[in-house]
Amino acid sequence: MRKYDFIIAGGGMAGLSLAYYLTQSPLRDRSILILDRDVKDRNDRTWCFWEKEAGAFESIIFRQWNQVNFHGTTHAGALNLGDYRYKMLRGIDFYEFVQTELQKWPNIEFRQASINRIKETPQGGFVIADDEPYIADFVFDSTFSLKLNQPENHNLLQHFRGWVIKTTTPCFSPNLPEIMDFRVDQGGDCRFVYVMPFDETTGLVEFTLFNEQLLTEADYEIALRQYISQHLGAVSYDICEIETGVIPMSDEPTQENPSEHIIRIGTAGGYTKPSTGYTFQRTQRYLKALVTNLVETGKPTRKQSWFTKRFKLYDSIFLNVLENKRHPADDMFTRFYAENRPAKAFQFLDEDTRLVDEIRLFMTMPLLPFTTAFFNVIRRKMFG
Ligand SMILES: Cc1cc2nc3c(=O)[nH]c(=O)nc-3n(C[C@H](O)[C@H](O)[C@H](O)COP(=O)(O)OP(=O)(O)OC[C@H]3O[C@@H](n4cnc5c(N)ncnc54)[C@H](O)[C@@H]3O)c2cc1C
Repeated sequence: MRKYDFIIAGGGMAGLSLAYYLTQSPLRDRSILILDRDVKDRNDRTWCFWEKEAGAFESIIFRQWNQVNFHGTTHAGALNLGDYRYKMLRGIDFYEFVQTELQKWPNIEFRQASINRIKETPQGGFVIADDEPYIADFVFDSTFSLKLNQPENHNLLQHFRGWVIKTTTPCFSPNLPEIMDFRVDQGGDCRFVYVMPFDETTGLVEFTLFNEQLLTEADYEIALRQYISQHLGAVSYDICEIETGVIPMSDEPTQENPSEHIIRIGTAGGYTKPSTGYTFQRTQRYLKALVTNLVETGKPTRKQSWFTKRFKLYDSIFLNVLENKRHPADDMFTRFYAENRPAKAFQFLDEDTRLVDEIRLFMTMPLLPFTTAFFNVIRRKMFG
C-alpha cells in the first residue's frame, strides 16, 4: 500500500480548493491523492460571495456587481456595497479551472472511487475507497455528514430550488442582482427569492427557505412560477438549468480535527456560516490559513483566537430567534441591511468587525426577541 503525504477525501469545492492552495505553497511537491465518486463535469451549483480584492479564482468569475437589490418590509432598493463586489462563480468553471491546474502536477493523483471508511491509525489517516486501502500523513475529509440532532443546538436548514431561465422579453436588470426578495408568502417562517441576472433575458431565480422542513418539489415550483410571472413579468420562458440544495444552518459543534491525522474541511468541517449558509468564501479563507499553518508548523490546523468565537454566539442567537419565530424574519433582515451600511453588514457577516461596530449593529435589531434569545441560548448550551 502506497503512503501519500496527503489524501483529500472528496474533490468538491473545499477539496479542490485545498489542493490548489497546496500547489501555490512550498508544499507543492508533496504527494497528494484526491478521491471522489464523481467526476465533477456538471454545473451542479453556482457560488455567490463577496470580497474586496481579486481572489484566487478571479479569472473565472462569471459575473460581479458593486450593488445588490433588497426587497424587505420597509425598504426596497439597491444597496451600495462600497469596496465589496458581489461575485458569482459557476461550479463547472471552478471544477474545470482547478482540475486543469492540478493536472500539471505529476505528484497529484485523482481517483474516482466511493469512500467507504476513513479512520485514524498509528501510521496515519487510513481510507478505504472502492475496497482499496490508502494511507497518508494527513487525510482531509470533506465527505463527513453532521448528525443534526442535539437538543441544545439549533438545527435549521437552508433549502432552495433555483431555475436558470431564458425569457422571450427583457425581464432582468443585468446590473442589479436581488439578494433577498421577501415579496413571497412567508408561511410563518423565512422565505425569499434570490435573483442573479446573467443578462436582460437570462438569470438564476431561486426560491429559498430558512426553516426545519423541506417542501415538496411542487411547492418550490409553484412559488418560482408565481414569482417569475408576478415580479419579473415573464410570460413565456424556458428553464435551462435546475439547481437544488440543502445547506445546514446549525450551531452543532463540528470536530474539525477529530484525530491526529484526520482533518475535516468544507461543510464537513463546519465552515458554513450558521446564520447565512454562505460557505464558499469562508472555505477559501480557512483553507489558506490552514495551508499557511501547515507550512509554518507542520500542523494542518488553523489558528483561531478565542475572541472570534463571539461570532458563534451571535449566530446561535440569530438561529434561536428564527427557530422560535421570536420576530418576523423579513423585518429582521430589513433592519439588518437597510438600517446599517451594507458594507458594514457584509463585514460583520465576514466576522471582520470590531466589537463597537457589532454593538451598533445589534442596536438596529428588535431588543426583546434578541435578549430573550440570548438567555435562551445560554440556558440551552449550559443545561441542554
Ligand atoms: C446548489 C448549491 C448552491 C450553493 N450556493 C452557494 C453560494 O452561492 N454561496 C456559498 O457560499 N455557498 C453555497 N453553497 C454551499 C457550499 O458552498 C457548497 O455546498 C460547497 O460545494 C461545499 O463544499 P464542500 O467541499 O464542503 O462540499 P462539496 O462541494 O459537496 O464536495 C464534497 C465532495 O465529496 C464527494 N463525496 C461525498 N461523499 C463521498 C463518498 N462517500 N465517496 C467519494 N466521494 C464523496 C462529493 O462527490 C463531492 O464532490 C451551495 C450549495 C449548494 C448545494
